[in-house]
Amino acid sequence: RAKAEGRGTWRFFEPGMDAEILKRRQFEAELRRALIEEQFELHYQPLLAAEPQALVGFEALVRWRHPRRGLVQPGEFIPLAEEIGLIKSIGAWVLRKACADAAKWPSHIKIAVNLSPLQFMDGDPVRDVELALAASGLPAERLELEITESVLLQDNETTLSSLHRLHAMGVRISMDDFGTGYSSLSYLRRFPFDKIKIDRSFVHALAQDTGSIAIVRAVIGLGKALGMDVLAEGVETAEQLRILKLEGCDELQGYLFSRPQPVQDVAEMIARYAQGASTAEA
Ligand code: C2E
Ligand code: MG
Ligand code: MG
Ligand code: MG
Repeated sequence: RAKAEGRGTWRFFEPGMDAEILKRRQFEAELRRALIEEQFELHYQPLLAAEPQALVGFEALVRWRHPRRGLVQPGEFIPLAEEIGLIKSIGAWVLRKACADAAKWPSHIKIAVNLSPLQFMDGDPVRDVELALAASGLPAERLELEITESVLLQDNETTLSSLHRLHAMGVRISMDDFGTGYSSLSYLRRFPFDKIKIDRSFVHALAQDTGSIAIVRAVIGLGKALGMDVLAEGVETAEQLRILKLEGCDELQGYLFSRPQPVQDVAEMIARYAQGASTAEA
């Protein structure tokens, strides 16, 4: 039916402009179908304690297994899903799937799930989390929710009370991509964060410029003073790792250890780290 409609509109619009609109319409329709047909999958990337180095959890990262386009990355469809109101349903699916997968892993392994700001604005994240935990049997303490600073820009009572309710349930809250948004530092006090994730742009620059070392050092100090863990995202080199350990960073994540992998590979990753693997090459 979409195709028939599409053919009809070609008669009335400029071909160039129409092609853009059609492409977008088709993408939207496909995204809605993807949810019904369960074309989404989660890939998992290890989170490591720095000292002694050990696997402590995984971050769930959504991908879209598109029937023709292949594997579509979140950057290519999450913004559209947010625009057309589909992120609530996708987000709820991600929570259910991630908790169900994690419930099968050893009990010391945590699962981190990203939440879109829109899930707080017009969704019910507390209910979504309660349902995901109840269905999977995963203890709340093993779930971490990652939110970006943009959530805090909607500095309203609903967001704040949702976060406090989740925290009171035992769920851990992480501030994702720290340093890239516009938040004031006072948010760190007002919101119940357990962890700060330093954005990978700072980690990337670590070996080259002393400014980045100063920033990373300051964030680690801030985290410690506020009783929060600090994780460095995007660790790619041994030199970055050396500096982060020296500065006392608590946790690490990045391609140096592993890229995000499909769920079938999780058991193997857990076994590899149990045998003392330290980086991807080990
Ligand atoms: P994020 O939450 O900051 O996730 C980390 C991103 O950095 C992931 O990209 C990961 O693959 C990538 N990454 C990890 N280690 C390295 C590294 O060493 N080097 C580099 N260059 N990149 C690294 P990905 O999977 O493409 O996800 C991008 C973003 O999409 C995520 O950023 C998150 O904001 C969003 N996202 C992913 N899954 C979900 C989801 O289920 N729900 C929502 N709302 N957003 C999601
Ligand atoms: Mg994240
Ligand atoms: Mg991040
Ligand atoms: Mg990031």
